[in-house]
Amino acid sequence: MGLLLKIILFGVAVYAVWKTFSRWKGLFDKFVGKPDEPARPAPPPPPPPAEPLSARRVAAEDTIQCAACGAYIPASAEKCGQCGRPQPRPQS
Ligand SMILES: [Zn+2]
Repeated sequence: MGLLLKIILFGVAVYAVWKTFSRWKGLFDKFVGKPDEPARPAPPPPPPPAEPLSARRVAAEDTIQCAACGAYIPASAEKCGQCGRPQPRPQS
């Protein structure tokens, strides 16, 4: 009976240690926070405000294509912003 008593005592001791460990772990997690809990992902940034349709249309109308590099530059620009080629001014 001696061996059986030792086994039972060992089991009770392990159970007590486990319960104590779980209890302290629960308290620790309550105060510190569970490290394995995934943080709430940040909400995605709001999309940039859409460009006003009127401004976009005006920009498209006033944009010309550079004859040298093909870049679209404002018609009012003196020269191309990409290659620096002077733009021919409209005759009218
Ligand atoms: Zn150009």
